[in-house]
Amino acid sequence: MRIVDIRATTVTVPLEAPLRHSNGAHWGRFVRTIVEVEADNGLVGLGELGGGGESAEAAVVGLREYLLGHDPFALEALRFAIANPTASLYNNRTQLLAAVEFACLDLIGQHLNVPVYDLLGGKLRDRVPFASYLFFRLPGADGTGEVRTPEQLAEHARDLKRQHGFTVHKLKGGVFPPEYELECYRALAGALPGDRLRYDPNAALSVAQAWRFGKAVADLPNEYLEDPTWGLNGMRQLRDLGIPLATNTVVVNFEQLATNVRDPSVDVVLLDTTFWGGIRPCVKAAAVCDTFQLGVAVHSSGELGIQLATMLHLGAVLPNLTYAADAHYHHLRDDIIAGGKMPYVDGAITVPSGPGLGVRLDPQRVAQYAELYRELRGYPYDRDPARPGWYPLVPNDRWADPADPAVMA
Ligand SMILES: [Mg+2]
Repeated sequence: MRIVDIRATTVTVPLEAPLRHSNGAHWGRFVRTIVEVEADNGLVGLGELGGGGESAEAAVVGLREYLLGHDPFALEALRFAIANPTASLYNNRTQLLAAVEFACLDLIGQHLNVPVYDLLGGKLRDRVPFASYLFFRLPGADGTGEVRTPEQLAEHARDLKRQHGFTVHKLKGGVFPPEYELECYRALAGALPGDRLRYDPNAALSVAQAWRFGKAVADLPNEYLEDPTWGLNGMRQLRDLGIPLATNTVVVNFEQLATNVRDPSVDVVLLDTTFWGGIRPCVKAAAVCDTFQLGVAVHSSGELGIQLATMLHLGAVLPNLTYAADAHYHHLRDDIIAGGKMPYVDGAITVPSGPGLGVRLDPQRVAQYAELYRELRGYPYDRDPARPGWYPLVPNDRWADPADPAVMA
């Protein structure tokens, strides 16, 4: 099998409401680029990456000369062909490599008529459990969906639990002052007795603020604090809190993983199939974590069904996946895969069992959301549509005002 073409299509798919985070917001939709890698036997493998819109498309298509004639089975060679560690210091192709790796695994699976999990050692579970990913939200276009007050947050969490069956809940913070988010987090715990909680302010707090937050929630059923402060050295100063620490920002490659083994800062590593350069590097990283008794979870950087499938195949094969995975998926109004959104049942999603990644594109939906992208274009992820001109510091002190019923400007 040889690669004969690579195509990229950017789509934008609406969210229920704009999702706020410490650096800005998802402005009511995700922008994702779908990658199609075609082989000489007529099969098409699917990949996905985030963010850049036209620049992502150009970067994907720019790999054509590297990929034409490449055997999709040659996955280790692929890494050195387009993202060798030294050249990658300059061209930063890890996320592109990931999208092509997804597509090659999809091609191999279709070619052999086996699901991707069988290429990765076989599945250990049929369903992957997910946490509810809770955001402070601006009102949507129809004026509904705001999450700003402790009461709104608790109601939103109860609603998601009713709809999808979640028993683990992660609050994305770093938006409002830490004392106010503490009040919100405690309201969440009060609304969801027996469930487990995570707090992730995206590294917006100082070590001292993170310490105070940790002390003030120590009595709650916390699974972990995720990136409460910035940096391996900042995180290490929080180890005596007695609450596990997780990261998707300071252990995102093997060099950092090795550093964290030699001089531990975090207890749980959130593996992201894009950030780490593919599903297979995540499986390798999970094995290192297993060896050194670090926890493993699955990170979400905002996905449509192709990327979600990579997360499900990863989650299916990891023996040490002892934490529910993260996904933004339940905030989406639709998907670009045939059959529409994959359903949650009892807080979990079934691992696709068809050949390859087990998901196929819905051409009508792809056309619809590619058209929507051409109409709306991209948005700056690191800006807040309710606060023109604003940008945060690290650690931050420019919090949003919880008394302000902000709307998109
Ligand atoms: Mg995070």
